[in-house]
Amino acid sequence: MDEPQGSEPGESFGDREKRIAYNEAWFRALNERKAEWMRNGLPTAGFRCECGNTSCSVRLGLSKKEWTEARSEPNRFAVAPGHVVYDVEVVVKEYSDFWLIEKRGEAEEFVKELA
Ligand SMILES: [Zn+2]
Repeated sequence: MDEPQGSEPGESFGDREKRIAYNEAWFRALNERKAEWMRNGLPTAGFRCECGNTSCSVRLGLSKKEWTEARSEPNRFAVAPGHVVYDVEVVVKEYSDFWLIEKRGEAEEFVKELA
């Protein structure tokens, strides 16, 4: 993927927001595969943090119930505490080892399309 240098003026929905949303949707897809393995009794190393940082490699230990809650909305993601981009997402619930966040505005529409 080509990375634009700097930010272009006049963007309504910026590449940055889109990149963050895309990254989160990517990790969500990865975690859905992990959830599938767990249903089949295969061991996994835990879920990946679904934040917008491409270099983040934090693992989350979600229970089945917590995973179900994280997947209950198409714009909802499970991230490590503090891994929040406050201008495009809001924290809906804080657990001790992870937080649930939801995308807002145009990013919300974008991740729903990717879901
Ligand atoms: Zn993270």
